[in-house]
Amino acid sequence: MSLAEIRARVARAEAAAGRAPGSVTLIAVSKLQPPDRVEAVLREGHRVFGENRVQEAAGKWPAWAEAWSGLELHLLGPLQTNKARQAMELFSTLHSLDRPKLARTLARLAQERGHCPALFVQVNTGAEPQKAGVLPDDADAFIADARALDLPLVGVMCIPPADEDPLPHFRTLRGIGERNGLDGLSMGMSGDFEAAIAEGATHVRVGSAIFGARAY
Ligand SMILES: *Cc1c(COP(=O)(O)O)cnc(C)c1O
Repeated sequence: MSLAEIRARVARAEAAAGRAPGSVTLIAVSKLQPPDRVEAVLREGHRVFGENRVQEAAGKWPAWAEAWSGLELHLLGPLQTNKARQAMELFSTLHSLDRPKLARTLARLAQERGHCPALFVQVNTGAEPQKAGVLPDDADAFIADARALDLPLVGVMCIPPADEDPLPHFRTLRGIGERNGLDGLSMGMSGDFEAAIAEGATHVRVGSAIFGARAY
């Protein structure tokens, strides 16, 4: 696979869904990828990247941000409150707002800094015990509480269970976004981003299909 090929597939899926060209943001998920692969994608002109861990991102992105202008970094993985300040400095968008304590911490830091990254509320659509995210039934109340804290919510995000058809999960997420007036839908990964675009995804998070397998 390659960046060009994935971009073309995103464009075809947008067209097939009757959506405007460029209406889907392709987040290249660079976690655990060798630097030369990430640099190749930077050289091809891509500027929107996703990382799972604050620590890993802090170790590699500040240098790239000096060398390449216009970078936009998204945090996709769980965020501990003690890393919230660092995350707010590194990332333009956080996709894993998932609990009241984190919402309160982000709100306090946002007041202090006068600025907050854009936020997606993560929803655990499969109600998997090991997975982060608010349960679908709790999402409306959680979103209302986060809004009451003046947090800049832009959308909702999900990671469907690995062994299930993702479609019902994409639909659940879209319903939660629609009834809460949140336009952003962060859903779809290497194996299912076209299906996610057909269901309305605005942000797809694609790692291995762009970069190849990760080095764990
Ligand atoms: C790793 C990861 C991705 C990318 O997964 P691929 O299958 O490599 O595309 C997307 N979203 C999240 C939250 C991830 O952790």
